[in-house]
Amino acid sequence: MSNQHIFLDNNSTTLIDPRVLDAMLPYMQHQYGNATSRHLFGRAARQALDQAREQVAEACGAHPSQVIFTASGTEANNFAISGMAGNNENIKQIAVSAIEHPAVTRPAFALRGNGYRVAVIAADHFGKVDPLSLDVALEKPTSLVSVMLANNETGVIQDIAALAEMAKAKGALFHTDAVQALGKIPLDFESLGVHAMTVSSHKVNGPQGAGALILDKRVDIKPLLHGGGQEKGLRSGTENVAAIVGFGAACALIKNALEARATLTRQLRDGLNIGLQNLGATVFGDKAARLANTSFFAFNEIEGETLVMALDRKGFAVASGSACSSDSTEPSHVLMAMGVSPDLARGAVRVSFGANNTSDELNRFLAALQSEVQRLRQLTAVAV
Ligand code: PLP
Repeated sequence: MSNQHIFLDNNSTTLIDPRVLDAMLPYMQHQYGNATSRHLFGRAARQALDQAREQVAEACGAHPSQVIFTASGTEANNFAISGMAGNNENIKQIAVSAIEHPAVTRPAFALRGNGYRVAVIAADHFGKVDPLSLDVALEKPTSLVSVMLANNETGVIQDIAALAEMAKAKGALFHTDAVQALGKIPLDFESLGVHAMTVSSHKVNGPQGAGALILDKRVDIKPLLHGGGQEKGLRSGTENVAAIVGFGAACALIKNALEARATLTRQLRDGLNIGLQNLGATVFGDKAARLANTSFFAFNEIEGETLVMALDRKGFAVASGSACSSDSTEPSHVLMAMGVSPDLARGAVRVSFGANNTSDELNRFLAALQSEVQRLRQLTAVAV
């Protein structure tokens, strides 16, 4: 990959901050203890884990004892869904929103094999989850509701505290996937009032391979993995100390960086949106409160996949639909839930800015976008 290539896909993953890498390196070299060992090496690893737990807890507005480390956001979501819903054998309904990441919907649908019913909570045209639809779902006894805090495609932010309140009033547990929210908006587990919340390291300039479920200790949850009893017996397996240390270090940087990062990415995103308007694009979710760094848009007559490849050839990395499902040609399920026509949805492209992007990069991107859109429009016009 050339140094000239410009990364505008920061909702898929992010560059490791050099300070994070520095914090990790000793645990990949001489400090290689197993955190369960009693000797000096093990104790050093345990201490490093304890510190990371405090750092992650602080960034999430939680207590360190509420942090259960996992290997990814996907794993934490699976843990929450199967562990919390699957624990109440008498209540056989769970509810998930129509715009969830597959790391929530797939484990939810997998529970059907155990006799569960999955209620899908609708979203509106703006990308917001519909409280009335949740209300209808809650008419049936429901063990767990899962609604994400910020959507990975549109960036739209949900009113989690209000939705969690509704669910709790009916005796349901509430989980939120906050993978895209951490580092981009202030996050406070306590004031959200949820029982469980998922976060992931590599979305916040930490390493890939670490995540966490923040869990209210009063919740009865089934262990995800059985074995040596790590993570309070809920997620056995030797901890990935270096990755978790990196996750902690990345979380420790959030507090001071959050505002500046939001300001920078909002400026870039707003600049992009002016360019998009001039080119006649439709921008999805732009009427709702959304993450400052994200723009999800489409041009009527251009396939998203084609535009992504054309921009890649010009040196720009952007995503079509959701990066996590980029092997699929189906239109984005998020846009389908928002009532966007499948034809327009097939044109969807996502740009997500990060801490390292600059206005010079934006200007170069806008120039490339304009020329590629014009070229592809001409090709489409000739083909018709
Ligand atoms: N949830 C959301 C909203 C995401 O955007 C992603 C990744 O893109 C995940 C979960 C999965 O997290 P991880 O990549 O750490 O497995």
